[in-house]
Amino acid sequence: MNAPASSIETTVPSNLDVVVIGAGFAGLYALHRLRGNGLRVQVFESAGDVGGTWYWNRYPGARCDVESVDYSYSFDDELQQDWTWTEKYATQPEILSYLRHVAERFDLRRDIKFNTRVTDIVFDETTTRWQVTTASGDAVTARFVVLGVGPLSNANIPAIEGLASFAGPVYHTSKWPHEVVDFTEQRVGVIGTGSSGIQAIPCIAQQAAQLHVFQRSPNYSVPAGNVPLDDKTVREHKATYAERRRLSMLSGGGSPHRPHPKSALEVSDEERRAAYEKRWQLGGVLFAKTFSDQSVTVEANNTAREFWEDKIRAVVDDPDIADLLIPKDHPIGTKRICTDDHYFQTFNRPNVDLVNLRATPIERIDAGGIHTSDDYYELDALVLATGFDAMTGSVDKLNIVGRGGQTLNAAWAEGPVTYLGLGVPGFPNLFNIAGAGSPSVLANMVLHAELHVDWIAAAIAHLDTHGTVGIEACADAAADWVKECSDRATGTLMLQANSWYLGANIPGKPRVFMPFIGGFGVYGQIIADVAAAGYKGFDLIEA
Ligand code: FAD
Ligand code: NAP
Repeated sequence: MNAPASSIETTVPSNLDVVVIGAGFAGLYALHRLRGNGLRVQVFESAGDVGGTWYWNRYPGARCDVESVDYSYSFDDELQQDWTWTEKYATQPEILSYLRHVAERFDLRRDIKFNTRVTDIVFDETTTRWQVTTASGDAVTARFVVLGVGPLSNANIPAIEGLASFAGPVYHTSKWPHEVVDFTEQRVGVIGTGSSGIQAIPCIAQQAAQLHVFQRSPNYSVPAGNVPLDDKTVREHKATYAERRRLSMLSGGGSPHRPHPKSALEVSDEERRAAYEKRWQLGGVLFAKTFSDQSVTVEANNTAREFWEDKIRAVVDDPDIADLLIPKDHPIGTKRICTDDHYFQTFNRPNVDLVNLRATPIERIDAGGIHTSDDYYELDALVLATGFDAMTGSVDKLNIVGRGGQTLNAAWAEGPVTYLGLGVPGFPNLFNIAGAGSPSVLANMVLHAELHVDWIAAAIAHLDTHGTVGIEACADAAADWVKECSDRATGTLMLQANSWYLGANIPGKPRVFMPFIGGFGVYGQIIADVAAAGYKGFDLIEA
């Protein structure tokens, strides 16, 4: 338990209904929606402004991999008609300016306290209220807490000996400076070749005198196929938004994509190749969903993998480098597929080299560079594209204390236990947006945030109109849900990769497939049915 805290109720209202933590896509919409329902809402955000992911991840090349037209709020038609995306996949600055526009447009900033990190959230069983304490020791209480802390917001800083002794600047992709970083004439090292590294590396390569890419695991990446959006396309998007959103809400991943209707193994070689080629030319992550059985059987997956390999070998000049860039240890799509702009071609440049850490691991870093087992790389700057303690990392960092003094970290010691991803037994009136137990990172997360927030808003309204004060996931419902999530993942190839979906990138993290893989539309129907059945699986707490 934390020490008694001073109150900040002079600067934020007392008698709060809801505290929301985080001012990214999820937290901003939560504030707007819940405030619109007449609730007194306060948001705490550790960053200096709105944006979440798009506030923090300012590395060169950062952009979304879901089309901008889909990766944007749907809740307000005037907003989606007024806002015009300039590129198929928006850059980080454009998404950030969109979220700033949303904050202005809906007057959100007045209820957000920036530069304020929440440290403790403690439930008081006598009042059925949560006490929320910040890093400065200030505290407020609220009936409900909504965690909008993000599934990809807790940076993974690798435990490499000597990292702190490096004399030059060290940048983690998710803690990128606000000022422009200029790598001109520098010797730069990038550690990490996931989505962030794969976006950043081609940009850094264009500036740096020498770029050393330190690769532990190669990754599958598909050309993003980004293009500027012309007026005709924008007009079409705007005219068809309603249908686009409807299809997205019913879809597997939250965008209006329909996979090929047949199995990859049923069609002829020509038809299969044509389907892959079509998706390849369109660009983007949906290549991994060309046929729906790609994620289910190794045989179907192999057809996509082989097609992909041919494409990569065709653009990398040195066959040995190409070989190193091709994953051998997992089916395509079982780690988050990356998208790129000439990533593989970057290794044809004379100023770029690939260091294979599987053969020659990093032993230590000193003031001047990186020692691997067989070489020393002198560096002026170091980029860590080493990812996140995903899905649970930012929740785990909070000291959340529920009924009977139980901490959430203790309850989740063997892996996250949730009912529908939204509630946790023993932690009433605490809602988690887009975390473990929901489709989360497997879906378009903007629509996902809206789905969750709308459900939470309706649940609170239900409590308030029925004279009840609390909602708490039942232990047996949560156990069944955890099993269902696990069973659904077992029915796919997803367990065959050491992915961050499974926590495999964080030493000691329980190996549990954390998202719900049954599809965004299916999930939406499940949580709607639960609500319609009077919040089946939840206990509603009487006053
Ligand atoms: P976030 O945007 O992560 O916001 C959480 C906020 O909570 C942060 O601002 C953080 O500072 C704050 N916070 C956390 N803990 C505390 C605390 N204790 N106290 C106070 N504040 C706290 N998803 C897609 O669907 N499509 C994409 O194309 C896509 N691209 C991505 C690109 C990158 C580089 C990354 C890292 C992620 C991407 N994602 C993408 C996932 C992305 O995280 C989500 O789409 C979405 O932005 C998440 O929004 P959020 O509000 O849930 O969380
Ligand atoms: P990531 O996918 O987890 O990649 C991290 C990389 O760092 C991996 O290559 C990993 O190697 C490497 N690494 C970690 N620790 C290391 C160590 N000690 N030594 C050497 N290498 C190490 O992280 P990310 O690239 O930041 O992406 C995370 C997720 O964010 C994505 O999957 C995606 O969901 C989202 N994202 C999306 C976009 C987009 O295109 N819109 C862009 C960026 C991020 P191993 O694989 O061997 O562990």
